[in-house]
Amino acid sequence: MKPSDFAVKQTEGIRWLSFPPLDVFPFVLHGLMVKGRDSTADGGKKTPGKLLKTISRHDARPVSLSQMHRDECVTITSRDQVRRRYSGDAVLTNRADVLISVAVADCLPIFVVNSKRKVIGMIHAGWRGTLLGIARRTLEKAKDRFGCQPGDFTLLFGPCIQGCCYRVSDQVAILFDTQYVSRSPDGTPRLDLVRANLKQFTGSGVKKSKIFVVGECTFCEKELFFSYRRDKENAGRMIGFLGLK
Ligand SMILES: [Zn+2]
Repeated sequence: MKPSDFAVKQTEGIRWLSFPPLDVFPFVLHGLMVKGRDSTADGGKKTPGKLLKTISRHDARPVSLSQMHRDECVTITSRDQVRRRYSGDAVLTNRADVLISVAVADCLPIFVVNSKRKVIGMIHAGWRGTLLGIARRTLEKAKDRFGCQPGDFTLLFGPCIQGCCYRVSDQVAILFDTQYVSRSPDGTPRLDLVRANLKQFTGSGVKKSKIFVVGECTFCEKELFFSYRRDKENAGRMIGFLGLK
């Protein structure tokens, strides 16, 4: 695991982040749409398709997920008829004509690139998906459907609610290995989503040196990020997107 910085960009009123560890892949287009400067929820309503048209000549079709907090990983292959929306919490593709995305507001967005097979993926990992092994499941799918080896992946963990703020109930905490749970001064358990997912990847053969982590906490950093825990029903969504050029 390596810490990662990000660059904040502003394009036609849409504020978004790019990540240097993914900039090194010339065949990949990526970003995370975050909270706009001017409003609280507006950024969450803008679509990556609109941003895409202004930041590149890429004319891929945006696809999104109906996220279920489970461990289903969708694959979109060159033979498929592309749909606008798929049901699942992870998506993998080798197609250059789709733009994959996940929506988050505290959950962990994971950007997946396999440079050898030119396969990309996005994962949405909250506590339920993490517990079910969404990270492991995605790697298995990548191997089955695209022949991807774990050692050829580069991963970037975007901002999420971190161990400092992610308070969970005792009933949830007990489901996780104790190494991922700490205690607040008042005794409330706090869950470390980043470490729990990191372990699934390294345990499956992904190299630690190829996993980059943006350590920012969505709950702490009000200016840039939406947080469901902090803003409740008013929280917008951040959209992580990834495409093959
Ligand atoms: Zn925090």
